Amino acid sequence: MKLITSLLAAAAVSVASFAMPAFAQDKGAVGISMPTKTSTRWISDGETMEKLFKEAGYTPDLQFADDDIPNQLAQIENMVTKGAKVLVIGAIDGTTLSDILAKAHDAGVKVIAYDRLIRDSGNVDYYATFDNFQVGVLQATSLVDGLKAQFGDVKPWNVELFGGSPDDNNAFFFYDGAMSVLQPLIDSGDIVIKSGQQGMDQVGTLRWDGAVAQARMENLLSSTYTDAQVHGVLSPYDGLSIGILSALKGVGYGSGDQKMAVVTGQDAELPSVKSILADEQYSTVFKDTRELAKVAVNMTDAILGGKEPEVNDTKTYDNGVKVIPSYLLKPVSVDKSNAKDILVGAGYYTEDQINN
Ligand code: BGC
Repeated sequence: MKLITSLLAAAAVSVASFAMPAFAQDKGAVGISMPTKTSTRWISDGETMEKLFKEAGYTPDLQFADDDIPNQLAQIENMVTKGAKVLVIGAIDGTTLSDILAKAHDAGVKVIAYDRLIRDSGNVDYYATFDNFQVGVLQATSLVDGLKAQFGDVKPWNVELFGGSPDDNNAFFFYDGAMSVLQPLIDSGDIVIKSGQQGMDQVGTLRWDGAVAQARMENLLSSTYTDAQVHGVLSPYDGLSIGILSALKGVGYGSGDQKMAVVTGQDAELPSVKSILADEQYSTVFKDTRELAKVAVNMTDAILGGKEPEVNDTKTYDNGVKVIPSYLLKPVSVDKSNAKDILVGAGYYTEDQINN
């Protein structure tokens, strides 16, 4: 009788475990908080993570915050309440999350800063991003290449500078990386910033807003360039480049004898890749968001599996409270000469998407 009971019990256990593979597989909830949908890169980041987390047995909760800080705070709070074990956060404003992250920490939740550093909080565990200083170096290097190619015979080159959003830590890294290349040329007199506007406090573009960049470029053109030509514009993001190009086209750049200025960018967004192939925008920086998504998912899996996530930088990203262990991916410079090879080659776009 005893034997039969234990056989029955064993059968019950095995039926239970056979009937509930989903529970056995469920590794728990993960919150993915992305800043906005206005730029396709964040949609791709979010959706790739969602897919990879599901494949790895997690239950992802993907939210986009519409570039609205209270909205992002509420979404993250909700993720914590619903029991997320890890939060992967692409912050809108990297300085606004301290309170909610303190709550998350008290609830035992681990936090990965995604692409953008979260500042002024000790409750950030890891940082997954690209080499942001190098992004700026690539932008400025291609700006100078473009100036040589398009305006080699006219010097000094008149250049204007645009920065990203001052509430995004990345914007300072992009700007500093770019200036590491441009400042020596400004010092030698090869490049002139004719408006005199330099430094993130003067050239930053709040919330990475293309309309703000367009308005500033229009002002620069009417205040500083009625009798002179602007040869190059440092733009840190494709969405700003579109606004800048539209201001330039508005006063005749790129038509007749008036050559288009050399304008840089970032993210290899489809409209900008097309603009590059049409000889408008000069270059962009490709950051494979699918790879960044993988890094964040692998970090999460390691953390929850009780292992140390892989990092490759432990000294660059001081968030004001501590240096966050980081994994930096490599950005790639893209212009007309290599756009198709790199972007179609990587499977980021199809040939059809780029051509049509
Ligand atoms: C990202 C860039 C992006 C920008 C605007 C930055 O934090 O690193 O890839 O162009 O935000 O969305």
